[in-house]
Amino acid sequence: MPTRSSRNDADTTSLSPNIPDFICVYKDSSTIDFIDLKRYLENQIGGAVRIELRRSFISHHLGSDKDIDSIAEKLVNTKVFDVSDPEKIYDPFPVEIDHEKDLIFNPKKKVFGMLYNGFRLQKLLRELLPTAESSFKYLHVAFTSRPIATWDFGDGRYHARTSVYGFPSIISSSGIVEAPAKPREYYIIRKALVASGLARELVEEELKSKLKGRFIDYNDERMTDIVKGYILQAFFYHTTYEPFCDDTNCRLFNAHWQEDMIRAQLKGNDLCERHEGILEKITLKQK
Ligand SMILES: [Zn+2]
Repeated sequence: MPTRSSRNDADTTSLSPNIPDFICVYKDSSTIDFIDLKRYLENQIGGAVRIELRRSFISHHLGSDKDIDSIAEKLVNTKVFDVSDPEKIYDPFPVEIDHEKDLIFNPKKKVFGMLYNGFRLQKLLRELLPTAESSFKYLHVAFTSRPIATWDFGDGRYHARTSVYGFPSIISSSGIVEAPAKPREYYIIRKALVASGLARELVEEELKSKLKGRFIDYNDERMTDIVKGYILQAFFYHTTYEPFCDDTNCRLFNAHWQEDMIRAQLKGNDLCERHEGILEKITLKQK
């Protein structure tokens, strides 16, 4: 199955027979209300598709036959080591392996530092799936607090991502905060405040107060409603290979700006007419 990150937007919609029997949603440590998310999916997709909430992807698939040290080492190797070279990896330091093990066993712990290469992380997760669940009958959506990025061969650099679609699909809750650009004023005001000598924490507080509501922050109460659209994108990718829409008010809009993301996810009518129609056909096919 090919993969797509949240930046591509070619329109090649065609219905494939990839209608899943199961949607497995793997939780992360963010404040997303996964029960509400499940209810939303049941309303939108429902029918014969069974939606299952699971704990974090790695914890769920970490059977007694799997070597935790080896998984932790591979996780370190999914990190971006050199922002100018997507192939570069090195032998991880023991402290990095321990940190990844710690994150697996204590998912509430904060993820520090570097970006993870979204496609390398996706490959690692795919390798953990049992054979019985490695088919198009399963749509696996792994939420992660790890910030992800993918290499763009077009401009030769990494881009932070909200999501990477494929098998499994990955949605990064920190990516929702960090990947889409904040309003232009944010960067202008921040520059002025930093130049004025204001302490870093106060700079962030001042920016949040001045631009209230115009970008999503960590622990933002709007996060659950925002990610509803991203999980729909994962579903459309799985069923049609086309996760994105050009309509700025459709939840499938591939937003590169926070304000565009907020409008598409919170101010529109879920899906545009065209995608409502496609979803209806898909859900009818299930019955
Ligand atoms: Zn649409």
